[in-house]
Amino acid sequence: MFDWLIVGAGFAGSVLAERLATQRGERVLVIDRRPHIGGNAYDRHDDAGVLIHQYGPHIFHTNSQMIFDHLSQFTEWRPYEHRVLANVDGMLVPIPINLDTVNKLYNLNLTSEELPRWFADRAETVEEIKTSEDVVVSVVGRELYEKFFQGYTRKQWGMDPSELDKSVTARVPTRTNRDDRYFTDEYQFMPKHGYTRMFEKMLRHPNISVMTQTDYRDVRDVIPHKRLIFTGPIDEYFDFRFGRLPYRSLQFRHVTLDQEQALPTGTVNYPQTEDYTRISEYKHMTGQQHPKTTLTYEYPSAIGDPYYPIPKPENAELFKKYERLAMQTPNVWFVGRLATYRYYNMDQVTGQALATFRRINEALPVGDDSATATPKVRIVAAE
Ligand code: FAD
Ligand code: UDP
Repeated sequence: MFDWLIVGAGFAGSVLAERLATQRGERVLVIDRRPHIGGNAYDRHDDAGVLIHQYGPHIFHTNSQMIFDHLSQFTEWRPYEHRVLANVDGMLVPIPINLDTVNKLYNLNLTSEELPRWFADRAETVEEIKTSEDVVVSVVGRELYEKFFQGYTRKQWGMDPSELDKSVTARVPTRTNRDDRYFTDEYQFMPKHGYTRMFEKMLRHPNISVMTQTDYRDVRDVIPHKRLIFTGPIDEYFDFRFGRLPYRSLQFRHVTLDQEQALPTGTVNYPQTEDYTRISEYKHMTGQQHPKTTLTYEYPSAIGDPYYPIPKPENAELFKKYERLAMQTPNVWFVGRLATYRYYNMDQVTGQALATFRRINEALPVGDDSATATPKVRIVAAE
């Protein structure tokens, strides 16, 4: 009998497995239907020997020392600050939009002091900022919005930014200085030997067993367990009782080239042309020395593995129905990007898993097997 069955070996499942095994001494079985651990952060050496991210580029960044310190138990790090160029009007310019973006695109010589006025002259007045269109046009105006955001967002999400919650494009700021880093977080690193090695270390414990290529739906009734942590899609757990929660998918095309380097930065975005959104080159991120290089093209898709919850009001409403059901389901916790339908980065999922662990600890004395000991809150927000 396992104390815990954990469905999903990504950040949510693996962080919790390690805590439960080492801090509570409980027996944990982690299952994943994929043939590997690591979830979407899984990386591997491809046939040419280049370290790639199977599910697209993953760059670790956080402002939380607590989260950084926690993961540091399982990996050394390589400092890496991600930079992205956008292919706009036939030029490669920095995104997030900054001083150099505007000067290059419009052949201007503005200073950091002059740029806020330039933006203000173009910005549209929006009564209440609600959508992903509002967020951008209210800061930089319609022309830059159309060049950088509208086409990219339509491709990525299959819908116009005006239909999406503001939080989506708000992920990408606008700057008046020359800072061309994609993220400004205090801690920006890549795991020195890759994500998969980090997960292996996290899960290497005598109390933890791991079974890959194992779908919860096939084993739910045959693996004896006292409690469950579910990190897959929450609507699937409840057999789509209220209908399907939409998730956006991607197809990844990995291409190996017989040259050391192909892109000027880790990622190049295509907001105006092509049917892929972006191309990424891992060697910038990993620092790997290798005569060949591998790129990944991302093609957004409605069908395929679920990668992104789609932040819009009616989806949030549907999720709330599942959340209410989750509250009435004893001995099951829902954690992670798919199970809590939140557009979380890796650090946020780690924070959510650690917060969930604290809740479990507060509510369940070790060795207490009663269902009534289940805490009321079983979906915890990231801290
Ligand atoms: P997942 O990693 O999705 O893990 C859930 C696991 O559960 C999966 O492995 C799945 O196979 C398994 N599972 C589901 N259902 C079942 C079932 N029924 N039975 C068995 N197993 C099941 N974050 C960043 O911080 N920085 C980045 O640069 C970044 N880039 C990204 C790029 C892309 C293209 C994508 C898609 C995401 C990116 N992210 C990034 C987000 C990051 O991937 C997630 O925050 C993180 O991986 C979520 O972890 P998780 O454990 O919640 O989910
Ligand atoms: N976005 C855009 N143009 C860009 C980059 C981002 O329109 O050049 C929008 C798009 O809607 C995207 C969102 O901003 O989905 C968030 O971008 P991010 O790079 O954070 O996406 P992720 O890495 O999570 O796919």
